[in-house]
Amino acid sequence: MKKDKHPQVVVLGAGLAGIEATFQLIRRGIPVRLVEMRPKIQTGAHLTGECAELVCSNSLGSNLPDRAPGLLKEELRTLSSYILDVAYRYRVPAGQALAVDRHAFSREISRYIKGHSLVDYVNEEATSIPEEGTAILATGPLTSPTLLSFLSKTFGKKQLFFFDAIAPIVSADSIDMSCAFKSDRYDENGDGDYVNCPLTQEEYERFVQELVKAEQIPISGMEKDSRKTFFCACQPIEEIARSGKDSPRFGPMKPVGLTDPRTGKRPYAVLQLRQDNLLGSFYNLVGCQTNLTVQEQARVFRIIPALLSANFLRFGQMHRNSYLNSPKILLPTMQTKTNPSWFIGGQITGVEGYTESVGTGLLAGLNAARIILQKNPVVPPPETILGALVKYITFPGHKSFMPMSGNFGLFQSEFPELGADSRREKIISNARKVFREFADQL
Ligand SMILES: Cc1cc2nc3c(=O)[nH]c(=O)nc-3n(C[C@H](O)[C@H](O)[C@H](O)COP(=O)(O)OP(=O)(O)OC[C@H]3O[C@@H](n4cnc5c(N)ncnc54)[C@H](O)[C@@H]3O)c2cc1C
Repeated sequence: MKKDKHPQVVVLGAGLAGIEATFQLIRRGIPVRLVEMRPKIQTGAHLTGECAELVCSNSLGSNLPDRAPGLLKEELRTLSSYILDVAYRYRVPAGQALAVDRHAFSREISRYIKGHSLVDYVNEEATSIPEEGTAILATGPLTSPTLLSFLSKTFGKKQLFFFDAIAPIVSADSIDMSCAFKSDRYDENGDGDYVNCPLTQEEYERFVQELVKAEQIPISGMEKDSRKTFFCACQPIEEIARSGKDSPRFGPMKPVGLTDPRTGKRPYAVLQLRQDNLLGSFYNLVGCQTNLTVQEQARVFRIIPALLSANFLRFGQMHRNSYLNSPKILLPTMQTKTNPSWFIGGQITGVEGYTESVGTGLLAGLNAARIILQKNPVVPPPETILGALVKYITFPGHKSFMPMSGNFGLFQSEFPELGADSRREKIISNARKVFREFADQL
């Protein structure tokens, strides 16, 4: 049997981070044993056995170069991100966002990774991180309970839990387009990618009233204690409505930048639907993550005139989100402080979001590869968005450590003398310059 030139790295989890880490290793000739428990054991949110399944939205966020998610994508593409490469190949229309046909995207990644000669794909649950050799933990926010208990024993009881929620999907042909219109925000031609479902004041108030009194799925055990720690960026729509009757229309249902062609006016509130597959047959209800019972979701969302006869292909749901206390556990190279042969990437490090999970997975894979190739591990400079994110999750001085997405708030102390717009421009141009220098020396 042919002997591999390099030792094998064990990657736990074939999600966004685990796949990106795997790719960074195999492209440098390093073999990987990739351990994934699905479909034998499901997480409660994933539905398939495919690699890199997107559990909720099919959007990887803004693609605009002057937005933080856009800048992060640019940095990751400079480092040859495999996930982003596939995402651009399987892109569906979504205005300025990068959204994908989720099934085609995951199928292509599974085909490539499972069939790669340097990948030994193992379909089983990991119950610990191997003691010997190099390993990358990338089991995500829904890490199995057995592995969580290993992590809790290994790193101490500093694990935190909180909730997130996923939005429903409806079939395109069940949307009543006589009560909806296609447009992006500030789209002058009225030919955008989003389907907008306008509501009058009366319709909106009825919707909110029913939303707050609708029956929810009961929450049990440990998860109940953590309920207060809803992550704000992914709050269930009923929780938003509970915080004030106008909150949804100043939040996910805001009508700003939209004109209803039937009235020539801005609607009182708008529920936006975003295309969810290449065929354009699925649409997700943007910002409508929810923990209502399935029957109540159908009843309440059908109050929206365009969704009166909506056919729900997937209902929204709540889920657990686990993450480690990275400032205590992790170095900015993504190695653990206690064992430099262990790396961690993805949402379990305390980053929030698809692209952020890809980014930390990429860095974990890159540094694991560099060490095996007898090079020094690297840390992206804090002036870059990937660097700022890594700095955030490994910064020891947080009062309470909460998950974070890539955003310009991470650069708080830079260029304070400038006004908001010029400061953002300066942060971006500086980040680009510094990242180029960083990438050039790899
Ligand atoms: C329900 C839900 C909805 C979300 N919605 C969004 C969203 O809309 N937009 C967004 O940007 N982010 C969203 N997130 C947050 C986050 O970006 C995603 O969860 C992202 O997929 C994280 O990437 P990851 O690789 O860290 O984890 P995952 O993509 O979850 O991958 C982890 C993998 O590890 C596997 N695994 C777990 N335990 C074990 C084990 N013991 N042994 C072997 N394999 C194991 C899992 O099956 C999974 O395949 C959501 C998270 C959840 C849970």
